[in-house]
Amino acid sequence: MPKAVGDDPSAPAAAPLLGAGARVLVTGGAGFIGSHLCAELLRRGHRVHVVDDLSTGSLDNLREFADEARLTVTVASIEDPQVAARACAAADAVFHLAGAVGVRRLASRPLEVVQRNLRCTEVLLGAAAAGRIPVLLTSSSEVYGDGPVPFDEAHSVRPGATEGRRGGYACAKAMGEWLAFGHREQDRLPVVVARLFNTVGPRQSGESGMVLPRFVAQAVAGQPLTVYGDGSQTRCFAHVGDVARALVELMAAPGTEGRVFNVGSDVETTVLALARLVRDEAGTEAPLQLQPFTAVFPPGFVDPPRRVPSLQRLVAAIGWAPATPLATIVRELVALARQQGDQRGGMAAG
Ligand code: UDP
Repeated sequence: MPKAVGDDPSAPAAAPLLGAGARVLVTGGAGFIGSHLCAELLRRGHRVHVVDDLSTGSLDNLREFADEARLTVTVASIEDPQVAARACAAADAVFHLAGAVGVRRLASRPLEVVQRNLRCTEVLLGAAAAGRIPVLLTSSSEVYGDGPVPFDEAHSVRPGATEGRRGGYACAKAMGEWLAFGHREQDRLPVVVARLFNTVGPRQSGESGMVLPRFVAQAVAGQPLTVYGDGSQTRCFAHVGDVARALVELMAAPGTEGRVFNVGSDVETTVLALARLVRDEAGTEAPLQLQPFTAVFPPGFVDPPRRVPSLQRLVAAIGWAPATPLATIVRELVALARQQGDQRGGMAAG
């Protein structure tokens, strides 16, 4: 019988789930976090198979690996059981990132977000369970809802009221975790769950509402930075490169199987402080424009006031946690946005 979640961490360390030179399936590998994860896996000598339906991802995110023989890409939905079965049968390990994300999408199309996240995860886990292919399941800090900070993996999940829109995503992510542990129990599927906190970095799009790419684009264009509410809500932002490394290490370290890990930064920043930081790094006088939540979100859409992880479990498992300072991340993103603006300007002029 597999051990239960949260078993004695001092028990003898089980073997790592990701061996050297593995064949790794990354669902959602053409997305923002997925593409950085592929880069990290390739860097460590693995072979990578991406399955992505490009609904939010883009092949452009993987263009630096266009000539890389160890990367293959299948454009298809992992919701298709045949696609999932074929991909899992050819893999030694799976990182499951495919799903519908983004607060804006959740606010406007809550049913689609819930259905797609549930279906992707149910089908993928079923296929992985058939061959007992170890899975790292990416879940979300949203499962903690408005619970007490710092969020600890042993806390109850709090997806919120079903009459509200936001909780559906949290609930689908939590259900994914329960499905994973159900397969672990029933089929002896090895699983690790990573609850991702706010992750930022190159290639993140502001299209689905994510705050940092939006602030950077606004600041570089000299436009007002749109701060929702009074800006006193807090988040902790981690660099996507750090997050990708942590995900790989959670599969490569012994003793992580059957456990849930928060993955992110625990340095808390208000949205207002983030806006000021972006404005300073961009060297612009652009104003901060406070917009009431009621003007940007539908009724019943709750913006969590604080979100801070406990990282004790993660640090105990892999010896570190994502820690690139926010100012360094913002500087990098401002420089990239300027560079891309120059290239577009150059192309338009040329
Ligand atoms: N936010 C903001 N201005 C924007 C976009 C987002 O003030 O243009 C706020 C949002 O209300 C939230 C925080 O920034 O409090 C982070 O939003 P994001 O959508 O990036 O992630 P969340 O943590 O809400 O999932």
